Amino acid sequence: MLILVVNCGSSSIKYKLMDMEQETVLLSGLAERIGIAGSRIKQESQAGKELVLEQDLPNHKVALETILKCITDQTYGAISDISMIKAVGHRVVHGGEEFNKSVLINDELIKVLEELSDLAPLHNPPNVVGIKTCREILPGIPHVAVFDTAFHQSIPKHAFMYGIPYQYYEKYKIRKYGFHGTSHKYVSGRAAEILGKSVEELKIIVCHLGNGSSITAVGNGVSVDTTMGFTPLAGLPMGTRTGDIDPAIVTFLMEKENLSIDETNNLLNKQSGVLGISGISSDFRDLEDAANQGNERAELALSMFAYSINKWIGAFTAALGGLDVVVFTGGIGENSKDMRARVLKGLAYTGLEIDEEKNNSRGKEVIISKPGSPITAMVVPTNEELMIARETKVLATR
Ligand code: ADP
Repeated sequence: MLILVVNCGSSSIKYKLMDMEQETVLLSGLAERIGIAGSRIKQESQAGKELVLEQDLPNHKVALETILKCITDQTYGAISDISMIKAVGHRVVHGGEEFNKSVLINDELIKVLEELSDLAPLHNPPNVVGIKTCREILPGIPHVAVFDTAFHQSIPKHAFMYGIPYQYYEKYKIRKYGFHGTSHKYVSGRAAEILGKSVEELKIIVCHLGNGSSITAVGNGVSVDTTMGFTPLAGLPMGTRTGDIDPAIVTFLMEKENLSIDETNNLLNKQSGVLGISGISSDFRDLEDAANQGNERAELALSMFAYSINKWIGAFTAALGGLDVVVFTGGIGENSKDMRARVLKGLAYTGLEIDEEKNNSRGKEVIISKPGSPITAMVVPTNEELMIARETKVLATR
């Protein structure tokens, strides 16, 4: 069964065509700069054929139509006709409190998603445009919405509420939602599989560390708590996002620097985190290079990041009532042996011993704690597209 996975952003569309009999990727691609000068599509097929198509993509409809042409291209594509695609899985960032699992898309659901746009004004509107357009150009097949927030709907109320007047939860639905749920679900499930255990019998902490980073406590196979909150700004300091700060800093800075709401949002989301601290880069490769050359602020940014991860691991161990497995994923978690080593050294108090040799790897599934450690540490590369395709297959074949 061939499934197309679509992740539609405001100016980009990521896509993967998956063969779900063997769970293989037939091709993957990215349309960039939609509606902006210099738009293009880059695609790579399983056979290693690379296509770069520089073409005007004025809107998502043209972009998706062009993507379908690329997928069926005789030389660079993977299939001869779009009718071979049997279902489409759509990544949707925010499912609010309405969705604790993936759902088949119909007209009514689109209305609900539009209503939810208030909660994710940057992300949900392009997701909805993608869904509407795909249904138009690929009619008559099931389309499924897979939500970033769904996995976290199991978080108990005492953990998802904030200490603000209750009326704002009722009026605006202000609460912790959590994000990266598809990744946390995939990675915790895969970690259990690798260890030959059922996910229900393990207490797992998943550290998804990328440009956006979040940590999730998984107990009995469900999310018990997570670091991101009402928005993906909360929790760890990230590439350019603050993570948790004293909320009074926001009004203090607005007043002192005479900042508008837009300027404040920009400061908190785009100029902060490890970029703001180091003044160098949001990219951890740059920071590690600079720190190795003695740059103190780069070193400070890396230490703050590692310290914050360790603090959350401590907090979530308490939330879970113990800890069996720590898993690293995301661009940093999968690739940075240095960051993993910093974090695991901070867990030495638990008796966890890092296997330096095993840790010296990139982008691979590997156990990086020494045998006999009371807590197992491992790396599991995330695969959100596979998870989306699996959930789509289940709903499409029901
Ligand atoms: P996103 O959240 O946008 O999906 P990714 O999960 O791709 O981001 O992660 C991007 C981050 O991964 C960047 O900060 C990048 O520096 C970091 N990264 C990638 N490779 C390495 C590496 N070898 N060492 C350290 N950091 C890395």
